[in-house]
Order: sequence, then structure tokens, then C-alpha cells
Amino acid sequence: MPKELKPISKVAAQVQASTTIVIDSMFKEMKAAGEDVVGFGAGEPDFPTPEHIKQAGISAIEGNKTKYTPAAGMMELRKAACYRLEQDFGLKYEPQSVVVASGAKHAIYIALMVLCDPGDEVVIAAPYWLSYSEMVKQASAVPVIIAADEERQFKITAEQLERAITDKTKVFMLNSPSNPTGMVYSRDELEAIAEVCVRHNIYVIADDIYANLVYDGIEYTSIAALNEEIKRRCIVINGVSKSYAMTGWRIGYACAEPFIAKAMSNYLSHSTSAPSTISQIAAIEALNGPQEDIEEMRKAFQARRDHLVERMNKIEGISCIKPQGAFYVMMNMKKFIGKTMYGEVINSDSDFARLFLEKGKVATVPCESFAAPGFVRWSYATSMSDINKGLDRLEQFIKNA
Ligand code: PMP
Ligand code: GLU
Repeated sequence: MPKELKPISKVAAQVQASTTIVIDSMFKEMKAAGEDVVGFGAGEPDFPTPEHIKQAGISAIEGNKTKYTPAAGMMELRKAACYRLEQDFGLKYEPQSVVVASGAKHAIYIALMVLCDPGDEVVIAAPYWLSYSEMVKQASAVPVIIAADEERQFKITAEQLERAITDKTKVFMLNSPSNPTGMVYSRDELEAIAEVCVRHNIYVIADDIYANLVYDGIEYTSIAALNEEIKRRCIVINGVSKSYAMTGWRIGYACAEPFIAKAMSNYLSHSTSAPSTISQIAAIEALNGPQEDIEEMRKAFQARRDHLVERMNKIEGISCIKPQGAFYVMMNMKKFIGKTMYGEVINSDSDFARLFLEKGKVATVPCESFAAPGFVRWSYATSMSDINKGLDRLEQFIKNA
């Protein structure tokens, strides 16, 4: 008998696979196998990366810009991030406050690694992007979930945050516009949240990755732009994946007080080092170059949202509220819980989403892992014709059940 191997670390044993990535992989495999499946799974723009950005990447390769860069990223990219944040959101940072990472996900991960000691608490507002809780666990910290329901537009209040704070609280994770709800916190709501964070001296990881994707002319406010005291406590996360249709290039960044940025850069220098030089050069072009393409994409997302929400709310038993940003809709499917569909009792949103993929050939993400049971997330970063196809199939799926 071969000797049993020692187990993986206790921290690693607690970490779950990412449902969004698992579903996206399943969808891509089914499609590759020739199945006629429609995907609303991963939040990934269907648009190609704009031409001028692709050309910057090609020129980087041809010009032999293929060597290592500093761990915190190229100075030109850090300056470009500062320029864009100031232009778009009135956020003022110096390049020494900016750290480039391999995607916004990685920037959040490194921020948590640098901020948290074992046992520290990180407050997360639910529904939340499922990677937050797993990243907190990877940092040996403890996720503390506070929930906001659909009646409250999926937004938590400053009072709720205050009640969740203990002497172990180190960080509050804020994501506006939110994945998965698409909700955007107003300036007043942020003022109240910021006041609590400053008074209790806790950090805020402000995940602003969808900040350029807000609709109906509403004004976007980054919490870090409110005042100097909250800004000192913020680690602002942004990147090029969503707004510039650059998910596969893997460039995100964090802005923080220089001592935090330095610690993050030290971590990076012993793990991934900087991301691909070619991607960094393309990201410089994205941030400094013409912004018309991103405005075109934003308008297309808004039109898709309007159509999806309108049609979805006409389907019997299903409903959704209208999100103000990002590219997700939370479909409320609670009326189907306990019902039998295709000979199976639906006990959860996961059962519904699995059957919808198997029988309806539509990939969506059940929201149990976003701490929002009873909802299924649709990403509308896909074509209008696929949106119609998906909704036709939803109608059929329910009718034939
Ligand atoms: N934050 C949120 C809320 C997201 O939805 C995503 C999507 N992946 C990310 C961060 C990470 O983005 P990136 O692809 O740049 O890692
Ligand atoms: N953030 C996107 C999503 O929620 C991409 C997949 C992921 O990284 O989780 O679908």
C-alpha cells in the first residue's frame, strides 16, 4: 500500500472553486463540442479589444518590448492609471501609490494579503462577487457577510456596516457598481459609509472595476473621491478588463497610500512579478488613447440591459429589478423553489440553473455562491441576438417543464 500523502494546507482546503469560472469553462466546452448553447455566464464583454489597443500590443512584440518590468509595473502605465482616474473620477494619485497586477482580481488578492493578519475580519456586503470571500480566506482572514436584499436595491446601509464592526475588523469590501447586482451607491450613501469607516479606522477595498459602466446618465462617485480621510484608508481597484474589453490581457491595478503600495509591490516581486510587458503596453494605450470605443460599448450595454429587463419582467414567475451599472441582471426565480420541473424538485437556484443549462441550453450563474439564494445572474455582455435567443429559451424552458 503506498503511504497516504499529507493533506494540503488548512487554508487551501477551505477555498472553493469559482462558480463563474466553472460555468464559463463548461459553457465553452459545450460550445466547442458543437452544442447550440447560449452563454450568460462569465462577465466578459463580447466585443473584441479595440483596434488601436491591439496594435499597441503588436508593436510591443515587434519592437522587442519583451523584457521584465519593475514588479509594481511600468512607470508609464502607473502614470496612465493616475491620468485616467483623475480624468474620469476626479481621483488624484501619484504613481508611487499605484501597483499594477495580473488583473483586478489579483490586485484585490494582493491587497488582502498585505492588509490582513490571521483572524482579522473583512466585512463584505452581500450579494457579493464570489471571489471576495475565498480571497479573504486565502489571506487567513475571516469573511463577515452583511446582507442587503432586493427590496433595498441590494445595497447595505451604514448602520448595518456599523453593527458588523468589531475590534477585529480590518477591511470593508465595497463594490459599486456591483457584481452581481449592478447596483450603484449614491454619493449620500457613500458619505454615510465613509463616515463609519473613518470613525472606526478601517480600510476600504473599493472595487471600482465597473466604474465606467453606469447608465441613464447617473453620476458615479468613487468613495475615495469623497475626502482625504477616507481616501487614506482606501485601496482603489480598477483595471482594463471590463471597460476596454481586455479580460484576457490580465491587467488590473490598485491605488493606495505609498506604504501599502510598497508592501504590495514587495509581494508581487516574490510571486508573479509584473504582468506581461506586452499587456502593460497595450493597457497604456487603453488608458491614454482615444476613449470613443468604450463609450460605444457602454451605450450598447445600456440598450441590452433595457431590452433584457423589459422582456424578462414579462415572463410568468420571473422578475428582476433594473440595474444601474456593470453588465449583470439578478433574475428572481424564488417562485420556482419547491416546484417540480422536468421530473425534478427545484430546491435552489443552483438546481434551476443546472436544469436550464441541461434542458434549455442556456448558461447562467446561480447566485448561492454570491450569497443571494433564489437568484440567477445573467451577464448581458453578449449580443442582442443571443439575449433574445436566451429569453426565448427561458420561455420555452418554463413552458415545457
Ligand atoms: N472585481 C469584480 C467585481 C469583478 O466582477 C471582476 C471580474 N472578473 C474582477 C474584479 C476581476 O477583474 P479582472 O478580470 O481584471 O481580474
Ligand atoms: N468577474 C467575472 C464574473 O463574475 C469573470 C469571471 C470571474 O473572474 O469570476 O463572471
